[in-house]
Amino acid sequence: MNQQLLLAGIEKATVIGRDNHPISRKNISPNAVKVLYKLAEAGYHGFLVGGGVRDLLLNKRPKDFDIATDASPEQLKSLFRNARIIGRRFKIIHLRFGREIIEVTTFRAPHDTHNEIADHVPRRRIQNQESAHSTSGMILRDNVYGNIDEDALRRDFTINALYYTIDNFLVLDFSTGITDLQAKQIRIIGEPAERYKEDPVRMLRAIRFAAKLGFSIEEKTLQPINELAHLLESISTARLFDETIKLLAGGHAVKTFELLRLYKPGAYLLGPTLKALEKLSGPACKLVELALLNTDKRLAEDKSVTPAFLFAALLWPVLQLRLQAQQSTTSNQHQLFQQAAQEVLTEQLQYTAVPKRFTIAAKEIWELQFRLVRNNKRSVESAFNHPRFRAAYDFLLLREEAGEDLDGRGQWWTTFQIGDTNQKSEMVASEPRPASSKRRRRKPKANAAS
Ligand code: ATP
Ligand code: MG
Repeated sequence: MNQQLLLAGIEKATVIGRDNHPISRKNISPNAVKVLYKLAEAGYHGFLVGGGVRDLLLNKRPKDFDIATDASPEQLKSLFRNARIIGRRFKIIHLRFGREIIEVTTFRAPHDTHNEIADHVPRRRIQNQESAHSTSGMILRDNVYGNIDEDALRRDFTINALYYTIDNFLVLDFSTGITDLQAKQIRIIGEPAERYKEDPVRMLRAIRFAAKLGFSIEEKTLQPINELAHLLESISTARLFDETIKLLAGGHAVKTFELLRLYKPGAYLLGPTLKALEKLSGPACKLVELALLNTDKRLAEDKSVTPAFLFAALLWPVLQLRLQAQQSTTSNQHQLFQQAAQEVLTEQLQYTAVPKRFTIAAKEIWELQFRLVRNNKRSVESAFNHPRFRAAYDFLLLREEAGEDLDGRGQWWTTFQIGDTNQKSEMVASEPRPASSKRRRRKPKANAAS
């Protein structure tokens, strides 16, 4: 008898046989395949689920492979030597294979809504309970294990709730995942408002998948998004930073940003940028657009992108507005810039907890802009030797491409970098001396005359 049929809840699935779907083991990460076989050998049931199945059905390359199973976290821990239990709120298992991490989750059941905990109760007081909601409906803990059909229905979107099994190579659909994939639409499972209240990040995920897959957001799934966007205020700025990076560094930044401008949740991640774009026009706004385009291009070429550059670009119009507002005062320009840069970054930190190493680097990219456009000997050398030179140079090129007239400095730096040592020194020599380095008169030494 087919072993799968012994799994409770499986009878509720629509089954798609091997001949009716394009998923083949050779497109699945060998590590994930190994995990699936090992689970089966130990008598458990393991399924590929989520983006791995969705993307393979769309003939796309999945970003990662997630597995769902009826084995408990503790059973997984004893089965896999490389297992680590991650998270208390949502216990998941990470299996590390070199650089690849396979995420394994135990089937979860829906929540007992009687188990409500008031929003004001400190989180540490609820750690011993397996499931909890806040009074606003947000899931605080989610460690109630269940059957596969229950697991499917607590997932976010129908297209993310498809399961693939190596037992007869079937795809299982417990909702309308397959038809929604065919109709190219993002449909939330269950009652939309309720599901967004449980986890407001799902609103951002809807936007992310719509942009990534080129899908539309189904009407009822879309409808509460503007109304409930404010729920994102209850999400930690650390998680919102992670989501922002997933949104903008997933290879579809241009389209994603368009949706973030269109729908209200965007304002809870990139409020300062979106406001600045409404007030400003011209090169600073164009730069944001070009930076996003560039990010997508780099990722398509398998090049890396850094959040530092991304935030330096996204906050550039915000910085320009700040600097403009300061212009009436007459104090030290550099100090004014420092102050504006710090204020802009501090404002962004209220939305997303950008790690310090990135805010420092973003500020350096901005600071270097002064040195790259100012043509004097001292600034050429100090800029070129700066660890952030390359990023700052790319940023400079982007500013020019966006329509700023920087007196051909982009080209100057391009020529400088490809020049040999002699050419470099000639270029530096032909730069004017720093305006500020007026020859200081040396005080004669007290005993110089003797
Ligand atoms: P990708 O990895 O391409 O970003 P994904 O769909 O695999 O997309 P993950 O964040 O890796 O997304 O999550 C894996 C699966 O876990 C999802 O497909 C979904 O079934 C479930 N999931 C993730 N986040 C949530 C959430 N906030 N609410 C409900 N289910 C979720
Ligand atoms: Mg995934």
